[in-house]
Amino acid sequence: MHVPLVDLRAQYLPLKSEIMAAFEDILDSMQLFIGPRQKTFERQFAAFCGCEHGVSVSNGTDALALALRACEIGPGDEVITVSNTFIATVEAVAMVGARPVFVDIDPETHLMDWRQLEQALSPRSKAILPVHLYGHAAEMGPIVEFARAHGLRIIEDASQAHGATYNGQRVGSLGDIGCFSLYFSKNLGAYGEAGICTTNDAVLAERMRMIRDHGSRVKYHHELMGVNCRMDEMQAAVLLVKMPHLEEWNAARRACAHTYNEQLRDVVKAVPVECSWGTHVYCYYVIQVDERDRFVKAMQESGVGVNIHYPVPIHLQPACASYGFQPGSLPATEEVTKHIVSLPMYPELTSEQIQYVVDKVRKHARAGD
Ligand SMILES: *Cc1c(COP(=O)(O)O)cnc(C)c1O
Repeated sequence: MHVPLVDLRAQYLPLKSEIMAAFEDILDSMQLFIGPRQKTFERQFAAFCGCEHGVSVSNGTDALALALRACEIGPGDEVITVSNTFIATVEAVAMVGARPVFVDIDPETHLMDWRQLEQALSPRSKAILPVHLYGHAAEMGPIVEFARAHGLRIIEDASQAHGATYNGQRVGSLGDIGCFSLYFSKNLGAYGEAGICTTNDAVLAERMRMIRDHGSRVKYHHELMGVNCRMDEMQAAVLLVKMPHLEEWNAARRACAHTYNEQLRDVVKAVPVECSWGTHVYCYYVIQVDERDRFVKAMQESGVGVNIHYPVPIHLQPACASYGFQPGSLPATEEVTKHIVSLPMYPELTSEQIQYVVDKVRKHARAGD
């Protein structure tokens, strides 16, 4: 048997005729940008998150940069975030000319440790950018409280957490702006590049709409220096077909994760934690093992797709060399990086496939004892 890390075709096949019909419709009308589907998707996705406004964009990285720009964060400003994330979180900060300042993670949850915010604070701090990593909400209560006490904006990187909740509230609605990637392998994915920002702040929403379309409300009238980061109508069509399935897909991911948890808890170093405050939506299912590299090789040889999210923490990447972070500066982040492995995770996994993965993990995690 071969079990891939993700299987996009398994999701596509039952939706194929609906998606093709929508593509045909768009091409017949030739309304390719800021069309009816994109507007409907914005409304539906914002409502899903418990937000008033949705601003669709070209990808998740642009969503983050657009949110920062709308909050008027730029050169000379600092944004407090985590290093245990995909590079895009930090790239967005760099794209607007601001400087990333890292806090370490809680080693149990792999999420931002709000207890360290105080020491990251400076007169230049303008925003906190927590990441709902792997599909689990960061501990937003104390983060929001800290931000409000110090006049900081909160921009959520919810790119791995479509539908995840914190104390019953959906991520994307917990700070000033929520940013989502709609990359094809996320919990909700287009068939190309796409992303969306959510907010309850009408002023920020309007500013984001303007900036994403060359700084204009009316064509060829540019009120401010913007960018082009619009979503196209073909991607919106795919997202509208998929949107009604998101909750059932997240439930399937959770069921699969719970089977993995029960069957693997006794043989691996750690299975994912679900905190009392949140509903985990398992964009990635990440365990920790000893002798990780040997384990990864053995799993691949057994036909199981595995991956590492992420093998090198962002503060130690060559791209960040100019900031001058040293190894040892974020000990919890650096430690988990050595042990993490992601197992196959997608809603269409069959019980036979799940059992096969479980059997192989039990075999290869034990071989290292
Ligand atoms: C995928 C992802 C992004 C970037 O999204 P793109 O759509 O690929 O630009 C940003 N942050 C996190 C945490 C992600 O997982």
